[in-house]
Amino acid sequence: MIRAVTYAGLEPGPKFLVIGAIHGNEKCGTVGCNRVMAEIDSGQLQITRGQVTFVPIGNPRAYDQDKRYTERNLNRYLVPMAKPDCYEAQLGNILCPMLEACDVHLAIHSYTVGGEPFIFVSPTDAKEQAFAASLGPHTLLTGWEEAYAATGRKKAAKEKDEESTGSIEYARRFGAMAVNIECGQHKDPNAPEVAYRAIRNALRYLEMTPEPKPEPAHLTAPRLVTVTHVFYRDDMGKFPKSWKHLEPVGKGQAMAHRESGETVMALDSGYIIMPKEDCPVGEEWFYFGVEKQA
Ligand SMILES: [Zn+2]
Repeated sequence: MIRAVTYAGLEPGPKFLVIGAIHGNEKCGTVGCNRVMAEIDSGQLQITRGQVTFVPIGNPRAYDQDKRYTERNLNRYLVPMAKPDCYEAQLGNILCPMLEACDVHLAIHSYTVGGEPFIFVSPTDAKEQAFAASLGPHTLLTGWEEAYAATGRKKAAKEKDEESTGSIEYARRFGAMAVNIECGQHKDPNAPEVAYRAIRNALRYLEMTPEPKPEPAHLTAPRLVTVTHVFYRDDMGKFPKSWKHLEPVGKGQAMAHRESGETVMALDSGYIIMPKEDCPVGEEWFYFGVEKQA
């Protein structure tokens, strides 16, 4: 069973879908959804235009077990299945029609390593970037697909299958503006506040509440970090220090030492992105990105 709650304003407007805990151990989105729903239920906040649907817990069984997922990652292969082969596939069949029907989708996540909140955006969609910039976090991350393509490691066959389809990708396929917000580390006490602010800011930006839409001039210009390199852990290499997500590095600085003796140096001034210290050999170890103004 999945709980979905919809509030409809009297005036026509966008259909906005907010999903928390697509990964069961990422609970900030659930707290954020529940807080905004309580404000609406108490009459403190009104939805005047459009419809907002909250799914506070996208993966209830994983949420109860405080795990990322039970049988497989719900945010991969998120497409309808005629014969769902596991619990997450059954959930996908409930979530997909909601994603198809929405105009705007916000997926609320948190991540493993410590660091600041950020939002994934597509490199070319200015409308989406403006929406993302209104949500609160100061950093937008983009360029993943291009960076992966540059590695040549993803096989052509993989591009065709649905592995990389999560809620954002599926909603975009049906024309929605969709972003993933990462509110901080899973247990960061500030993450639920980031999630709550993002939902309230989105409702305001979409003019679904009586609050005035924020003027672009009043929004802080976010920094746009473009991922340029994906580094795989090819042997038992180590980091020279415990990197934080979005920690700055200077040109020529050592980012990692491979067991082979090779030092991976920053080719430019930029940022370490989502480093995984205990990453299994053969998997994505960390990313590197450079800044440009959104
Ligand atoms: Zn997640």
